[in-house]
Amino acid sequence: MPTFVHTDKCDGCKGGEVTACMYICPHDLMKLDTERMKAFNQEPEQCWECQCCVKACPQQAIEVRSFQDWVPMGGAAIPMLTDTAIMWTIKFRDGEVKRFKFPVRTTPVGSIDPYGNKPEPGDINDQRLFTEAGVDLPVI
Ligand code: SF4
Ligand code: SF4
Repeated sequence: MPTFVHTDKCDGCKGGEVTACMYICPHDLMKLDTERMKAFNQEPEQCWECQCCVKACPQQAIEVRSFQDWVPMGGAAIPMLTDTAIMWTIKFRDGEVKRFKFPVRTTPVGSIDPYGNKPEPGDINDQRLFTEAGVDLPVI
């Protein structure tokens, strides 16, 4: 089941050219109605419920209508992502609400150097991988 937007919460990412939900959707499904400044899922049948837009929305305005096999009718599973943790709010059909919080990383945001301890990139025509600098290729 696809995402839908709570239009009372959506602020169009305050007029940004590319909203958080548009930026994050791997399927380019989210679109901004620039007259109303409200986002919507332009092709709901194509949504694979990855929840990326739900987690990225700064206003908590997007929700996924989940499949009944894991969220029975009347229930809801709503994620809220921060820099350090994700909290799932689970609403049961009888009205009970439980929250589960999990850490999502062990290092501070922005602290990872993806090229740390790797050699400088070299000759693009060299058949070795750039991590293999200095390794002699077998002669065939
Ligand atoms: S990310 Fe949230 S607030 Fe921003 S446009 Fe999308 S639904 Fe609206
Ligand atoms: S749930 Fe995933 S596929 Fe569906 S609209 Fe959001 S980001 Fe796109």
